Amino acid sequence: MTTPFRPVIFRPLPRSLPPFPNETLQSYCQRLAHANRIPAERLHTPSLWLAHDGDSVTALLRRLTILTGLSRETFWHALPELRWRHEHGMSPLGRSLPPVVSMRLRPRWACRRCTATRTPGQHVMTWVPIYTHICLQHRLWIGEAVAVTREQVDLAQMPGALWAQRRHHRLVRRHGERVTAECFRTGGALWKLFAAHHYTLVPEALGQGLAKPRGPYLSWGPQLYAAAYPAAVTMMSLVASPAWRSLLAESMFPSDVDRFMKEFTRRLPPSHPAYATNMPALPSKTGAMVRRVTQILRETKAA
Ligand SMILES: [Zn+2]
Repeated sequence: MTTPFRPVIFRPLPRSLPPFPNETLQSYCQRLAHANRIPAERLHTPSLWLAHDGDSVTALLRRLTILTGLSRETFWHALPELRWRHEHGMSPLGRSLPPVVSMRLRPRWACRRCTATRTPGQHVMTWVPIYTHICLQHRLWIGEAVAVTREQVDLAQMPGALWAQRRHHRLVRRHGERVTAECFRTGGALWKLFAAHHYTLVPEALGQGLAKPRGPYLSWGPQLYAAAYPAAVTMMSLVASPAWRSLLAESMFPSDVDRFMKEFTRRLPPSHPAYATNMPALPSKTGAMVRRVTQILRETKAA
């Protein structure tokens, strides 16, 4: 059997560029194209009259090694999409991802201080675990609401956020990624509801002008997300605790609900006592959240 002739029309680019660890494929291709002042599409189809050599991960790896002179292993280790898509038989340039990946990771701008020395002047998008919101080494918020790297908030004046990130990592180790992700997601949504009702849990940040509320509702930029993060992690720790969760999810006694809410307000005191009375729905909303988390965990175990 003879292998059909497939012309290789790629040749090394003038400027090679190593990938950043865990970089997204799109980010790397754009950086490589930008460094060589060519459109990114030319990396994949450099000729109008010759078809390129295939749409598989193997073909893409071959192209990248020819274009950059870097080893196949370099790309295989640094660009996780190649591994995921190869394992699931997916096109390397498609938009969809395996569900297990999209549940665990998010594409986020890499910390601008991490990239400053390795890729000066270039912004890098990387795959980050959903529970990582801060670069602890450089004390920068890299999580929610960061649209461009200059919006990564310097947390030097918010030590509580750094503490919360370490605590979040500990909770993941203790309860697992699935449980903490669900607690954080539902807890975060509930916290937003409270914040919209002036259940202000970030008085220090507000006092320092780090998180500015606009009008009756808080505007959710990266600063406010960072300022609210310790409260969100505290709420998550309460819901992630099997003992406290079962107290609210399974007990029918009002006294148990009172115990839970006392613990809730002890850990997350509102900035003004009067605000607590403005949220009569707090026990029912919190109870609904806890029951939802419990249900999801049951389904996960049963699956
Ligand atoms: Zn960093």
